[in-house]
Amino acid sequence: MGDAIQSSDIFKTDAYVNGKWQPSRTRFDVTNPATGEILAAVADLSRDDVKVAIDAAAAALPNWSKRTAKQRGDILRAWADLMLAESDRLAQLLTLEMGKPLAEAKTEIAYGASFIHWFAEEARRVYGDIIPGHQVDKRILVLKQPIGVAASITPWNFPNAMIARKVAPALAAGCTFVARPSELTPLSALAMAELGARAGIPAGVFNVVTSLDAAGVGKEFCENPIVRKLSFTGSTRVGQILMAQAAPQIKKLSLELGGNAPFIVFDDADIDAAVDGTIIAKFRNAGQTCVCANRIYAQSGIYDEYVAKLTARVAQLRVGEGLGEGVEIGPMITDAALKKVRQHLDDAVEKGATVTTGGKPAAQGGLFFQPTVLSGATAEMRLAAEETFGPVAPVFRFDTEEEVIAMANDTEFGLASYFYARDMARIIRVMEALESGMVGINTGLISTAEAPFGGIKSSGLGREGSRYGIDEYLEMKYACLSI
Ligand code: ADP
Repeated sequence: MGDAIQSSDIFKTDAYVNGKWQPSRTRFDVTNPATGEILAAVADLSRDDVKVAIDAAAAALPNWSKRTAKQRGDILRAWADLMLAESDRLAQLLTLEMGKPLAEAKTEIAYGASFIHWFAEEARRVYGDIIPGHQVDKRILVLKQPIGVAASITPWNFPNAMIARKVAPALAAGCTFVARPSELTPLSALAMAELGARAGIPAGVFNVVTSLDAAGVGKEFCENPIVRKLSFTGSTRVGQILMAQAAPQIKKLSLELGGNAPFIVFDDADIDAAVDGTIIAKFRNAGQTCVCANRIYAQSGIYDEYVAKLTARVAQLRVGEGLGEGVEIGPMITDAALKKVRQHLDDAVEKGATVTTGGKPAAQGGLFFQPTVLSGATAEMRLAAEETFGPVAPVFRFDTEEEVIAMANDTEFGLASYFYARDMARIIRVMEALESGMVGINTGLISTAEAPFGGIKSSGLGREGSRYGIDEYLEMKYACLSI
Protein backbone atom coordinates (compact mmCIF):
# COMPACT_ATOMS: atom_id res chain seq x y z
CA MET A 1 0.00 0.00 0.00
CA GLY A 2 2.87 2.33 0.88
CA ASP A 3 4.51 1.81 -2.51
CA ALA A 4 1.32 2.81 -4.33
CA ILE A 5 1.21 6.06 -2.39
CA GLN A 6 4.87 6.78 -3.01
CA SER A 7 4.34 6.68 -6.76
CA SER A 8 1.13 8.72 -6.63
CA ASP A 9 0.76 12.33 -7.74
CA ILE A 10 0.08 13.63 -4.21
CA PHE A 11 3.37 12.26 -2.90
CA LYS A 12 5.63 15.32 -2.96
CA THR A 13 9.04 15.64 -1.37
CA ASP A 14 10.15 19.10 -2.45
CA ALA A 15 9.04 22.23 -0.64
CA TYR A 16 6.31 24.36 -2.23
CA VAL A 17 7.28 28.00 -2.73
CA ASN A 18 5.64 30.58 -4.97
CA GLY A 19 3.65 27.97 -6.86
CA LYS A 20 6.66 25.77 -7.63
CA TRP A 21 8.17 22.62 -6.18
CA GLN A 22 11.48 23.60 -4.72
CA PRO A 23 14.28 21.08 -4.21
CA SER A 24 17.23 21.77 -1.95
CA ARG A 25 20.84 20.73 -1.60
CA THR A 26 20.18 18.87 1.61
CA ARG A 27 17.25 16.67 2.46
CA PHE A 28 15.95 14.94 5.58
CA ASP A 29 14.34 11.57 6.06
CA VAL A 30 10.73 11.02 7.03
CA THR A 31 10.12 7.67 8.69
CA ASN A 32 7.13 5.51 9.41
CA PRO A 33 6.92 5.31 13.22
CA ALA A 34 5.22 1.90 13.00
CA THR A 35 8.10 0.25 11.16
CA GLY A 36 11.06 2.61 11.20
CA GLU A 37 11.04 2.44 7.39
CA ILE A 38 12.20 5.57 5.56
CA LEU A 39 9.32 6.94 3.50
CA ALA A 40 10.92 9.92 1.80
CA ALA A 41 13.81 12.35 1.76
CA VAL A 42 12.26 15.80 1.94
CA ALA A 43 13.78 19.16 0.96
CA ASP A 44 15.53 20.78 3.91
CA LEU A 45 15.15 24.52 3.33
CA SER A 46 17.52 27.03 4.85
CA ARG A 47 16.47 30.16 6.65
CA ASP A 48 17.29 32.13 3.46
CA ASP A 49 14.96 29.88 1.46
CA VAL A 50 12.23 30.65 3.97
CA LYS A 51 12.87 34.36 3.45
CA VAL A 52 12.22 33.82 -0.26
CA ALA A 53 8.91 32.13 0.54
CA ILE A 54 7.91 35.04 2.77
CA ASP A 55 8.74 37.46 -0.06
CA ALA A 56 6.61 35.36 -2.43
CA ALA A 57 3.72 35.54 0.02
CA ALA A 58 4.15 39.32 0.22
CA ALA A 59 4.16 39.61 -3.57
CA ALA A 60 0.96 37.57 -3.81
CA LEU A 61 -0.82 39.55 -1.11
CA PRO A 62 -2.23 42.55 -3.04
CA ASN A 63 -3.97 40.45 -5.67
CA TRP A 64 -5.30 37.87 -3.21
CA SER A 65 -6.55 40.35 -0.63
CA LYS A 66 -8.32 42.45 -3.27
CA ARG A 67 -10.36 39.56 -4.62
CA THR A 68 -13.91 39.36 -3.40
CA ALA A 69 -14.57 37.17 -0.43
CA LYS A 70 -16.68 34.95 -2.66
CA GLN A 71 -13.81 34.45 -5.10
CA ARG A 72 -11.51 33.41 -2.26
CA GLY A 73 -14.23 31.24 -0.76
CA ASP A 74 -14.85 29.47 -4.06
CA ILE A 75 -11.19 28.45 -4.27
CA LEU A 76 -11.16 27.31 -0.65
CA ARG A 77 -14.29 25.26 -1.25
CA ALA A 78 -12.73 23.61 -4.31
CA TRP A 79 -9.66 22.82 -2.20
CA ALA A 80 -11.68 21.16 0.56
CA ASP A 81 -13.72 19.23 -2.02
CA LEU A 82 -10.50 17.89 -3.55
CA MET A 83 -9.25 16.88 -0.11
CA LEU A 84 -12.43 14.91 0.48
CA ALA A 85 -12.26 13.34 -2.98
CA GLU A 86 -8.68 12.27 -2.23
CA SER A 87 -9.32 11.39 1.40
CA ASP A 88 -8.39 7.72 1.03
CA ARG A 89 -4.94 8.49 -0.28
CA LEU A 90 -4.41 11.47 2.01
CA ALA A 91 -5.34 9.27 4.97
CA GLN A 92 -2.93 6.53 3.94
CA LEU A 93 -0.14 9.05 3.61
CA LEU A 94 -0.99 10.52 6.99
CA THR A 95 -1.01 7.11 8.67
CA LEU A 96 2.30 6.19 7.08
CA GLU A 97 4.12 9.27 8.33
CA MET A 98 2.34 9.69 11.67
CA GLY A 99 1.16 6.23 12.72
CA LYS A 100 -2.46 6.86 13.72
CA PRO A 101 -5.05 4.24 12.71
CA LEU A 102 -6.35 4.68 9.17
CA ALA A 103 -9.91 5.30 10.38
CA GLU A 104 -8.65 8.17 12.54
CA ALA A 105 -6.59 9.51 9.64
CA LYS A 106 -9.72 9.60 7.48
CA THR A 107 -11.57 11.41 10.23
CA GLU A 108 -8.73 13.91 10.38
CA ILE A 109 -8.89 14.60 6.65
CA ALA A 110 -12.64 15.23 6.93
CA TYR A 111 -12.03 17.41 9.98
CA GLY A 112 -9.33 19.43 8.19
CA ALA A 113 -11.55 19.86 5.13
CA SER A 114 -14.44 20.96 7.36
CA PHE A 115 -12.40 23.97 8.52
CA ILE A 116 -11.65 24.93 4.94
CA HIS A 117 -15.34 24.64 4.04
CA TRP A 118 -16.32 26.60 7.13
CA PHE A 119 -13.96 29.50 6.44
CA ALA A 120 -14.85 29.47 2.73
CA GLU A 121 -18.27 30.54 4.02
CA GLU A 122 -17.05 32.83 6.80
CA ALA A 123 -14.99 34.83 4.27
CA ARG A 124 -18.24 36.49 3.20
CA ARG A 125 -19.22 37.46 6.72
CA VAL A 126 -16.34 39.72 7.68
CA TYR A 127 -18.64 42.57 8.65
CA GLY A 128 -17.68 45.98 9.92
CA ASP A 129 -19.78 48.50 11.86
CA ILE A 130 -21.11 51.99 11.47
CA ILE A 131 -21.42 53.51 14.92
CA PRO A 132 -23.42 56.68 15.70
CA GLY A 133 -20.96 59.52 16.14
CA HIS A 134 -20.01 61.17 19.40
CA GLN A 135 -20.52 64.61 17.84
CA VAL A 136 -23.22 65.70 15.41
CA ASP A 137 -20.85 65.89 12.44
CA LYS A 138 -19.08 62.61 13.17
CA ARG A 139 -19.64 59.07 11.96
CA ILE A 140 -17.58 56.17 13.26
CA LEU A 141 -16.73 53.45 10.75
CA VAL A 142 -15.14 50.14 11.70
CA LEU A 143 -13.66 47.95 9.02
CA LYS A 144 -11.74 44.69 9.18
CA GLN A 145 -8.75 44.15 6.94
CA PRO A 146 -6.44 41.18 6.39
CA ILE A 147 -3.43 41.38 8.64
CA GLY A 148 -1.01 40.56 5.80
CA VAL A 149 1.44 37.69 5.44
CA ALA A 150 0.74 35.00 8.04
CA ALA A 151 2.92 32.05 9.02
CA SER A 152 2.39 28.85 10.94
CA ILE A 153 4.41 26.27 12.83
CA THR A 154 2.57 23.04 13.48
CA PRO A 155 3.17 19.73 15.24
CA TRP A 156 3.09 16.13 14.04
CA ASN A 157 -0.01 14.83 15.80
CA PHE A 158 -2.50 16.23 13.26
CA PRO A 159 -0.35 16.72 10.14
CA ASN A 160 -3.30 17.84 8.02
CA ALA A 161 -5.81 19.44 10.36
CA MET A 162 -3.43 21.65 12.34
CA ILE A 163 -2.47 23.36 9.09
CA ALA A 164 -6.03 23.44 7.71
CA ARG A 165 -7.26 25.16 10.89
CA LYS A 166 -4.78 27.98 10.36
CA VAL A 167 -4.48 28.40 6.62
CA ALA A 168 -8.25 28.35 6.00
CA PRO A 169 -9.14 31.43 8.08
CA ALA A 170 -5.98 33.19 6.88
CA LEU A 171 -6.77 32.74 3.19
CA ALA A 172 -10.45 33.48 3.76
CA ALA A 173 -9.52 36.78 5.42
CA GLY A 174 -7.32 37.72 2.45
CA CYS A 175 -3.94 36.91 3.99
CA THR A 176 -1.24 34.92 2.25
CA PHE A 177 0.51 32.15 4.09
CA VAL A 178 3.76 30.34 4.79
CA ALA A 179 3.40 27.02 6.63
CA ARG A 180 6.20 25.13 8.29
CA PRO A 181 4.96 21.61 9.03
CA SER A 182 6.59 19.40 11.62
CA GLU A 183 9.79 17.81 10.33
CA LEU A 184 8.29 14.47 11.40
CA THR A 185 5.19 14.78 9.18
CA PRO A 186 5.75 17.08 6.20
CA LEU A 187 4.22 14.81 3.54
CA SER A 188 0.60 15.53 4.41
CA ALA A 189 1.29 19.27 4.20
CA LEU A 190 2.94 18.91 0.80
CA ALA A 191 -0.02 16.87 -0.46
CA MET A 192 -2.29 19.68 0.72
CA ALA A 193 -0.22 22.15 -1.30
CA GLU A 194 -0.57 20.01 -4.42
CA LEU A 195 -4.34 19.87 -4.04
CA GLY A 196 -4.45 23.59 -3.28
CA ALA A 197 -2.66 24.32 -6.54
CA ARG A 198 -5.17 22.14 -8.39
CA ALA A 199 -8.01 24.00 -6.70
CA GLY A 200 -6.68 27.29 -8.06
CA ILE A 201 -4.81 28.83 -5.13
CA PRO A 202 -2.53 31.33 -6.91
CA ALA A 203 1.27 31.12 -6.71
CA GLY A 204 2.65 32.56 -3.49
CA VAL A 205 -0.65 32.48 -1.57
CA PHE A 206 0.06 29.19 0.22
CA ASN A 207 3.68 28.11 0.65
CA VAL A 208 4.98 25.06 2.51
CA VAL A 209 8.53 25.36 3.80
CA THR A 210 9.91 22.03 4.94
CA SER A 211 12.99 22.32 7.12
CA LEU A 212 14.83 20.52 9.88
CA ASP A 213 15.86 23.85 11.34
CA ALA A 214 12.75 24.52 13.43
CA ALA A 215 14.49 27.13 15.58
CA GLY A 216 15.89 29.01 12.55
CA VAL A 217 12.55 29.09 10.75
CA GLY A 218 10.85 30.15 13.98
CA LYS A 219 13.30 33.04 14.30
CA GLU A 220 12.74 34.08 10.69
CA PHE A 221 8.98 34.12 11.18
CA CYS A 222 9.37 36.21 14.34
CA GLU A 223 12.08 38.58 13.13
CA ASN A 224 11.05 39.17 9.52
CA PRO A 225 8.83 42.28 9.59
CA ILE A 226 6.93 41.12 6.50
CA VAL A 227 5.34 38.36 8.59
CA ARG A 228 2.56 40.08 10.50
CA LYS A 229 1.07 37.09 12.22
CA LEU A 230 2.37 33.79 13.53
CA SER A 231 0.11 30.94 14.53
CA PHE A 232 1.74 28.11 16.48
CA THR A 233 0.50 24.82 17.81
CA GLY A 234 2.89 22.83 19.98
CA SER A 235 4.44 22.79 23.42
CA THR A 236 4.23 25.59 25.97
CA ARG A 237 8.03 25.62 26.06
CA VAL A 238 8.32 26.49 22.36
CA GLY A 239 5.32 28.85 22.64
CA GLN A 240 7.26 30.81 25.27
CA ILE A 241 10.31 31.00 22.99
CA LEU A 242 8.19 32.30 20.12
CA MET A 243 6.40 34.83 22.29
CA ALA A 244 9.71 36.21 23.52
CA GLN A 245 11.08 36.31 19.99
CA ALA A 246 7.95 38.06 18.72
CA ALA A 247 8.06 40.69 21.46
CA PRO A 248 10.40 43.20 19.76
CA GLN A 249 7.95 43.62 16.86
CA ILE A 250 4.82 43.17 19.00
CA LYS A 251 3.92 40.53 16.45
CA LYS A 252 0.44 39.09 16.61
CA LEU A 253 0.45 35.52 17.84
CA SER A 254 -1.99 32.68 18.14
CA LEU A 255 -0.67 29.98 20.45
CA GLU A 256 -2.29 26.63 20.94
CA LEU A 257 -0.10 25.00 23.56
CA GLY A 258 0.01 22.13 25.98
CA GLY A 259 -2.88 20.90 28.07
CA ASN A 260 -3.38 18.77 31.16
CA ALA A 261 -7.04 17.99 30.75
CA PRO A 262 -9.03 16.76 33.73
CA PHE A 263 -11.80 14.23 33.05
CA ILE A 264 -14.24 14.02 35.96
CA VAL A 265 -16.80 11.30 36.54
CA PHE A 266 -19.34 12.18 39.23
CA ASP A 267 -21.43 9.71 41.21
CA ASP A 268 -24.57 10.65 39.26
CA ALA A 269 -22.97 10.06 35.84
CA ASP A 270 -24.00 7.44 33.31
CA ILE A 271 -20.95 5.24 33.91
CA ASP A 272 -21.10 3.38 30.60
CA ALA A 273 -21.29 6.67 28.71
CA ALA A 274 -18.39 7.99 30.79
CA VAL A 275 -16.31 4.95 29.85
CA ASP A 276 -17.11 5.51 26.15
CA GLY A 277 -16.15 9.16 26.53
CA THR A 278 -12.90 8.22 28.27
CA ILE A 279 -11.90 5.93 25.42
CA ILE A 280 -12.29 8.81 22.97
CA ALA A 281 -10.86 11.55 25.16
CA LYS A 282 -7.90 9.48 26.38
CA PHE A 283 -7.02 6.94 23.70
CA ARG A 284 -7.69 8.79 20.43
CA ASN A 285 -4.40 9.08 18.55
CA ALA A 286 -2.91 6.79 21.24
CA GLY A 287 -3.25 9.63 23.73
CA GLN A 288 -1.25 12.02 21.58
CA THR A 289 -3.56 15.02 21.34
CA CYS A 290 -3.38 18.27 23.26
CA VAL A 291 -7.01 17.86 24.39
CA CYS A 292 -6.49 14.29 25.60
CA ALA A 293 -7.72 13.54 29.10
CA ASN A 294 -4.57 13.46 31.23
CA ARG A 295 -6.04 13.16 34.73
CA ILE A 296 -9.18 11.14 35.32
CA TYR A 297 -11.06 11.85 38.55
CA ALA A 298 -13.73 9.37 39.61
CA GLN A 299 -15.96 10.00 42.64
CA SER A 300 -15.76 7.50 45.51
CA GLY A 301 -19.28 6.09 45.04
CA ILE A 302 -18.60 4.91 41.49
CA TYR A 303 -14.79 4.64 41.57
CA ASP A 304 -14.51 0.85 41.61
CA GLU A 305 -17.25 0.32 39.02
CA TYR A 306 -15.78 2.92 36.68
CA VAL A 307 -12.23 1.55 36.97
CA ALA A 308 -13.45 -2.00 36.38
CA LYS A 309 -15.47 -1.05 33.30
CA LEU A 310 -12.72 1.16 31.89
CA THR A 311 -10.15 -1.58 32.46
CA ALA A 312 -12.30 -4.12 30.61
CA ARG A 313 -12.74 -1.79 27.63
CA VAL A 314 -9.10 -0.72 27.44
CA ALA A 315 -7.91 -4.33 27.61
CA GLN A 316 -9.78 -4.91 24.35
CA LEU A 317 -8.26 -2.02 22.39
CA ARG A 318 -6.39 -3.32 19.37
CA VAL A 319 -2.80 -2.20 19.04
CA GLY A 320 -1.00 -2.32 15.71
CA GLU A 321 0.20 -0.65 12.57
CA GLY A 322 -2.26 2.06 11.58
CA LEU A 323 -2.97 0.53 8.18
CA GLY A 324 -4.00 -2.78 9.79
CA GLU A 325 -7.65 -3.81 9.86
CA GLY A 326 -9.51 -2.71 12.99
CA VAL A 327 -6.47 -1.18 14.69
CA GLU A 328 -7.33 1.34 17.41
CA ILE A 329 -3.94 2.20 18.93
CA GLY A 330 -0.93 2.98 16.75
CA PRO A 331 2.68 3.59 17.78
CA MET A 332 4.12 6.49 19.72
CA ILE A 333 5.65 9.06 17.40
CA THR A 334 9.27 8.85 18.63
CA ASP A 335 11.56 7.13 21.12
CA ALA A 336 11.44 10.23 23.28
CA ALA A 337 7.64 10.09 23.38
CA LEU A 338 7.73 6.43 24.36
CA LYS A 339 10.33 7.11 27.02
CA LYS A 340 8.17 9.82 28.61
CA VAL A 341 5.21 7.43 28.79
CA ARG A 342 7.36 4.81 30.50
CA GLN A 343 8.83 7.34 32.92
CA HIS A 344 5.40 8.61 33.92
CA LEU A 345 4.18 5.07 34.41
CA ASP A 346 7.20 3.95 36.43
CA ASP A 347 7.00 7.05 38.60
CA ALA A 348 3.30 6.45 39.28
CA VAL A 349 3.78 2.79 40.15
CA GLU A 350 6.69 3.67 42.42
CA LYS A 351 4.43 6.15 44.22
CA GLY A 352 1.68 3.59 44.78
CA ALA A 353 -0.49 3.39 41.65
CA THR A 354 -1.75 -0.01 40.48
CA VAL A 355 -1.73 -1.13 36.86
CA THR A 356 -5.16 -2.65 36.13
CA THR A 357 -4.42 -3.37 32.46
CA GLY A 358 -1.46 -2.83 30.13
CA GLY A 359 1.63 -1.24 31.58
CA LYS A 360 4.17 -2.76 29.21
CA PRO A 361 5.62 -2.35 25.74
CA ALA A 362 3.21 -3.96 23.28
CA ALA A 363 3.97 -7.24 21.51
CA GLN A 364 4.70 -5.33 18.29
CA GLY A 365 7.84 -3.89 19.91
CA GLY A 366 9.32 -0.71 18.47
CA LEU A 367 7.33 2.36 19.44
CA PHE A 368 4.17 0.47 20.44
CA PHE A 369 2.95 0.58 24.03
CA GLN A 370 0.01 -1.21 25.62
CA PRO A 371 -3.00 0.92 26.44
CA THR A 372 -2.91 1.20 30.20
CA VAL A 373 -5.18 2.01 33.12
CA LEU A 374 -3.80 2.98 36.53
CA SER A 375 -5.87 3.10 39.69
CA GLY A 376 -4.86 4.91 42.84
CA ALA A 377 -3.28 7.89 41.09
CA THR A 378 -2.35 10.82 43.34
CA ALA A 379 -1.33 14.45 42.99
CA GLU A 380 2.31 13.67 43.85
CA MET A 381 2.82 11.70 40.65
CA ARG A 382 4.46 13.28 37.60
CA LEU A 383 1.47 12.45 35.44
CA ALA A 384 -0.68 14.72 37.58
CA ALA A 385 1.37 17.76 36.64
CA GLU A 386 2.69 16.95 33.16
CA GLU A 387 1.05 15.90 29.93
CA THR A 388 1.83 12.20 29.38
CA PHE A 389 0.86 12.31 25.68
CA GLY A 390 0.43 8.56 25.52
CA PRO A 391 -2.05 5.74 26.14
CA VAL A 392 -1.97 5.80 29.94
CA ALA A 393 -5.16 6.57 31.87
CA PRO A 394 -4.51 7.36 35.56
CA VAL A 395 -7.63 7.38 37.73
CA PHE A 396 -7.67 9.58 40.85
CA ARG A 397 -10.28 9.21 43.59
CA PHE A 398 -12.25 12.17 44.99
CA ASP A 399 -15.11 12.72 47.45
CA THR A 400 -16.67 16.15 46.93
CA GLU A 401 -17.38 18.53 44.07
CA GLU A 402 -15.35 21.34 45.70
CA GLU A 403 -12.39 19.04 46.17
CA VAL A 404 -12.36 17.88 42.54
CA ILE A 405 -12.72 21.37 41.13
CA ALA A 406 -9.73 22.47 43.18
CA MET A 407 -7.73 19.47 41.93
CA ALA A 408 -8.83 19.95 38.32
CA ASN A 409 -7.81 23.62 38.35
CA ASP A 410 -4.52 22.99 40.15
CA THR A 411 -2.47 23.25 36.96
CA GLU A 412 -0.83 25.98 34.91
CA PHE A 413 -2.74 24.68 31.87
CA GLY A 414 -6.29 25.38 30.75
CA LEU A 415 -7.06 23.89 27.37
CA ALA A 416 -9.81 21.27 27.63
CA SER A 417 -11.67 19.66 30.49
CA TYR A 418 -14.41 17.05 30.58
CA PHE A 419 -16.97 15.85 33.06
CA TYR A 420 -19.84 13.41 33.27
CA ALA A 421 -22.82 14.19 35.51
CA ARG A 422 -26.61 14.25 35.31
CA ASP A 423 -27.67 16.80 37.91
CA MET A 424 -28.36 20.03 36.03
CA ALA A 425 -27.37 22.42 38.80
CA ARG A 426 -24.10 20.57 39.20
CA ILE A 427 -23.52 20.65 35.45
CA ILE A 428 -23.81 24.42 35.42
CA ARG A 429 -21.70 24.92 38.56
CA VAL A 430 -18.87 22.71 37.33
CA MET A 431 -18.98 24.08 33.76
CA GLU A 432 -18.53 27.59 35.16
CA ALA A 433 -15.86 26.66 37.69
CA LEU A 434 -13.45 24.74 35.48
CA GLU A 435 -10.54 26.90 34.33
CA SER A 436 -10.23 25.87 30.69
CA GLY A 437 -11.02 27.24 27.26
CA MET A 438 -13.21 24.25 26.40
CA VAL A 439 -15.42 21.92 28.42
CA GLY A 440 -16.89 18.63 27.25
CA ILE A 441 -19.99 17.78 29.29
CA ASN A 442 -21.10 14.17 28.91
CA THR A 443 -18.95 13.89 25.79
CA GLY A 444 -15.32 13.11 25.16
CA LEU A 445 -15.07 14.72 21.73
CA ILE A 446 -15.44 18.48 21.42
CA SER A 447 -13.47 19.66 18.38
CA THR A 448 -15.46 20.95 15.42
CA ALA A 449 -15.14 23.77 12.89
CA GLU A 450 -18.25 25.48 14.28
CA ALA A 451 -16.78 25.97 17.78
CA PRO A 452 -13.96 28.18 19.13
CA PHE A 453 -10.99 25.94 19.95
CA GLY A 454 -8.34 27.30 22.27
CA GLY A 455 -6.96 27.54 25.76
CA ILE A 456 -6.45 29.86 28.72
CA LYS A 457 -3.57 30.18 31.21
CA SER A 458 -0.39 28.55 29.85
CA SER A 459 -2.39 26.71 27.17
CA GLY A 460 -2.32 29.66 24.85
CA LEU A 461 -3.83 32.65 23.13
CA GLY A 462 -6.47 32.97 20.46
CA ARG A 463 -9.13 30.68 19.04
CA GLU A 464 -9.35 28.49 15.96
CA GLY A 465 -12.63 27.66 14.22
CA SER A 466 -16.04 29.26 14.71
CA ARG A 467 -16.94 32.77 13.66
CA TYR A 468 -14.22 34.05 15.98
CA GLY A 469 -11.40 32.16 14.27
CA ILE A 470 -11.12 34.51 11.33
CA ASP A 471 -10.50 37.49 13.64
CA GLU A 472 -7.05 36.09 14.33
CA TYR A 473 -6.11 37.07 10.76
CA LEU A 474 -7.90 40.45 10.65
CA GLU A 475 -7.04 43.88 11.96
CA MET A 476 -9.79 46.23 13.02
CA LYS A 477 -9.55 49.77 11.67
CA TYR A 478 -11.64 52.59 13.03
CA ALA A 479 -12.21 55.62 10.85
CA CYS A 480 -13.64 58.84 12.26
CA LEU A 481 -15.49 60.64 9.50
CA SER A 482 -16.43 64.29 9.83
CA ILE A 483 -19.27 65.26 7.51
P1 ADP B 1 5.62 18.64 20.36
O1 ADP B 1 6.07 18.20 21.70
O2 ADP B 1 4.17 18.56 20.13
O3 ADP B 1 6.43 18.11 19.23
P2 ADP B 1 7.03 21.11 20.01
O4 ADP B 1 6.64 22.44 20.56
O5 ADP B 1 8.32 20.56 20.38
O6 ADP B 1 5.81 20.19 20.41
O7 ADP B 1 6.93 21.13 18.43
C1 ADP B 1 5.90 21.74 17.72
C2 ADP B 1 6.47 22.32 16.45
O8 ADP B 1 7.39 23.35 16.78
C3 ADP B 1 7.23 21.33 15.60
O9 ADP B 1 6.98 21.58 14.24
C4 ADP B 1 8.68 21.63 15.95
O10 ADP B 1 9.55 21.31 14.89
C5 ADP B 1 8.62 23.13 16.14
N1 ADP B 1 9.68 23.69 16.97
C6 ADP B 1 10.47 23.08 17.87
N2 ADP B 1 11.33 23.94 18.44
C7 ADP B 1 11.10 25.16 17.88
C8 ADP B 1 11.67 26.47 18.03
N3 ADP B 1 12.64 26.71 18.88
N4 ADP B 1 11.16 27.45 17.26
C9 ADP B 1 10.16 27.22 16.39
N5 ADP B 1 9.59 26.03 16.22
C10 ADP B 1 10.05 24.99 16.94
